[in-house]
Amino acid sequence: MTITRFAPSPTGRLHVGNIRTALHNWMLAKKLGGRFMLRIDDTDAERSREEYVEAIRADLAWLGITPDGEERQSARLEHYEAAFAALKAAGRVYPCFETAQELDLKRKVLLGRGLPPIYDRGALQLTEAERAAKEAEGIAPHWRFKLDHDEPIAWEDGIRGPQKFDPAQLSDPVIRRADGSWLYMLPSAVDDVEMGVTNVLRGEDHVSNTAVQIQMFTAMGAKPPVFAHEALLVGKEGKLSKRLGSLGCDAFRDKGIEPEALVALLARLGTSLPVEPIADRGTLIDSFDLATFGRAPAKFEDAELERINTAIVHQMDFASVQHRLPQGIDEAGWHAIRPNLATVHDANEWWRLVTGPIDRVEFSGEDRAYLAEAAQALQWSEDPWHALTSTLKESTGRKGKPLFLPLRQALTGMDHGPDMAELLPLIGEAEARARLERAAHG
Ligand code: GLU
Repeated sequence: MTITRFAPSPTGRLHVGNIRTALHNWMLAKKLGGRFMLRIDDTDAERSREEYVEAIRADLAWLGITPDGEERQSARLEHYEAAFAALKAAGRVYPCFETAQELDLKRKVLLGRGLPPIYDRGALQLTEAERAAKEAEGIAPHWRFKLDHDEPIAWEDGIRGPQKFDPAQLSDPVIRRADGSWLYMLPSAVDDVEMGVTNVLRGEDHVSNTAVQIQMFTAMGAKPPVFAHEALLVGKEGKLSKRLGSLGCDAFRDKGIEPEALVALLARLGTSLPVEPIADRGTLIDSFDLATFGRAPAKFEDAELERINTAIVHQMDFASVQHRLPQGIDEAGWHAIRPNLATVHDANEWWRLVTGPIDRVEFSGEDRAYLAEAAQALQWSEDPWHALTSTLKESTGRKGKPLFLPLRQALTGMDHGPDMAELLPLIGEAEARARLERAAHG
């Protein structure tokens, strides 16, 4: 069974980049009939906040990306302890005593010589006595995972194709701080093993972590999951801007963006499939395929999201939006105004054309006479607009714009807007006559 996971650190709101990762993992699981797990990466107690954990859950719920289960790293510390003990017994982790300044200096020296800043494994040269002396001085060690330099690292990446790393070209990663707290690398690998994660799909900023973690899986006696790394999402001006980067789902919701619009865009952005206003998740899931993912960074643009959003709003049926619409609006009202909406919020403004008050328009004397005639001619029927305009066409000889525009202006206070044939029945006979008379007589 396929198991995917989305593993955010609760140190901030989700932004479009990690929403996209969540969505793709969810789609991959759905496509393969598997499970999608939420894993809260909260080992960093200082930076993790409960309010962000709650916001992540709420945002996923709003997006309709429902996890099949949730784990939290802070509740799994004994698992990391156990894995650590086993790796230590197997000689795959070792204590280090360098200070941050010492490490920094070592890096600078290597860089100064034009060499890659790979950790020199100085700590492995310490004798038992030297180690004991450090500890006696009260220096607690931090811990590194010892890469096996004789075990070449390779995997077939679902997006990037064959990947190869020479472990000797990588630093042994620090996995645990001197205060006993965990860095990201080992807990994530332990969780992926114990949660039975089969497919890891994440951003390409994790490629070198994957190289290291593949050796961790093997060292723990586990088969590594299948990996795929997607190109990052960028904003219009290159990197995802601060503003965009910090946009939580609240900001999208406040702007009138529908979750379906965000999902439709992010599902296909950066793939060779066309980005279309597809509200049906089944359709998006069926077409989801890592083979369509490109290697170039995908560009996220607000304007594109707005365009998709408008098209999605135009497809929404009354039942799904009813609770968000102004009082009194019914199905016919929704259908009349829907084609004019950019967002569902706009319904308030357009519905005012029905309920009034409408804006006042100044008319020429000739048009005033015409509108007086219209008030007289107004007859209520199934289709009062077509009845009125054909009567007036005959009686006045007007056609086209001079026939229609003054009527629209008198009835709505605007020169564009919803289809009058749909709108007029909603305005109602008495109110329509009153508006025509007011326009005619001032
Ligand atoms: N917490 C990590 C991050 O947000 C998870 C990376 C992963 O998917 O393993 O980058």
